[in-house]
Amino acid sequence: MKEQQFLRIPGPTPIPPSVERAMIQPMIGHRSGDFKQLYGRLIPRLQPVFGTRQDVLVLAASGTAGLEAAAVNAVKEGEKVLVIVTGAFGERFTDICETYRFNVDRLDVTWGEAVKPDAVKAYLKKNPDTRAVFVTYCETSTAVLNPIEEIAQAVRETSDALVIADGVSCIGGTETEMDAWGIDILITGSQKAMMLPPGLVFIAASDRAWARIEANSQPRFYLDLLKYRKSAQDHSSPFTPAVSLLYGLEEALNIMEEEGLENVYKRHRLMKTMIRAAADALQLPLLTSEEAGSPTVTAIRPTAFDAEALRSEVKKTFSLTLAGGQKQLKGQIFRIGHMGYCSPADILQTITMLEIGLDRIGADIRLGTGTAAAQRVFLLEKGDNR
Ligand SMILES: *Cc1c(COP(=O)(O)O)cnc(C)c1O
Repeated sequence: MKEQQFLRIPGPTPIPPSVERAMIQPMIGHRSGDFKQLYGRLIPRLQPVFGTRQDVLVLAASGTAGLEAAAVNAVKEGEKVLVIVTGAFGERFTDICETYRFNVDRLDVTWGEAVKPDAVKAYLKKNPDTRAVFVTYCETSTAVLNPIEEIAQAVRETSDALVIADGVSCIGGTETEMDAWGIDILITGSQKAMMLPPGLVFIAASDRAWARIEANSQPRFYLDLLKYRKSAQDHSSPFTPAVSLLYGLEEALNIMEEEGLENVYKRHRLMKTMIRAAADALQLPLLTSEEAGSPTVTAIRPTAFDAEALRSEVKKTFSLTLAGGQKQLKGQIFRIGHMGYCSPADILQTITMLEIGLDRIGADIRLGTGTAAAQRVFLLEKGDNR
């Protein structure tokens, strides 16, 4: 059963069959009228996903290029920036900023916890020359959803720094109001909650950020957002776009709109609650608190068995792929991705497979207790809807 794969990692994520079919449409020229129509249809439909009235620009690249684009467009060599590091993706932002020789300060937060807005405020009061604050919205490596609205507010109240947010592993799976919350640059990728294969970056900037980008002499070429903004006005792209992925995007947006964004977000919250209830019932320690936990990914830090043994057991038995830990959490945790094309039915199946895996590696659990807890969460939710 080679095609029966249960991909429960925080990206790449499974692709809906109708999106797969959309992507095999015949190729078109990217300077053609057909392409311009496609692109013109897509941009306004991405705006509600970001919660912005700005153009959402599309780059053909992996998510990291979006982070790099934000950095090189908004900041120049020698300028002071703060990077909030809540895990491996905060580290990545730091690495990018250091590569471009920005004057980088880090705000390190214990992995598994969310950053406290007051800590950001305190830093900015002491460092009023900070030009930008880089923050990870969902820190995929620890399954934490940082309180991005409060952080942006804290930055606005204390400084002129731009708020630059990596939303790669949650945009499309959780409420985001870029404009209302005061986020200046927001980035996501195609392969997480957007239900697409890897290969696209989506990025939007506020008026404040655009003013900074226009004035910024930092060299950049492929990642120059001014080029993308100019082309977008003509419904095109400065370089050859990933046409097939854009066909897929149109169908992915159809699916999201049909469900309704509110319901998409509600489904993600429900999946989070189901998994957390199952973990509690099985006495599996969760890495994050309920409040800090992301609706798109959940991390478990077992004490009584080896996370890696469980991962290889379920992979071998069921072709169920779970993610491990990154960097300092390597071997310490396992992570379940529940975003994009993922439903409560998938979660029930995942938990049941997990229980069998736990049993087979000799963990002391009672079969079915996790599944029953998740079932109860599901029933309660549906009861509320009646
Ligand atoms: C997946 C991810 C990225 C992007 O990674 P790529 O491999 O470059 O696509 C960036 N930030 C976060 C938080 C992620 O989860």
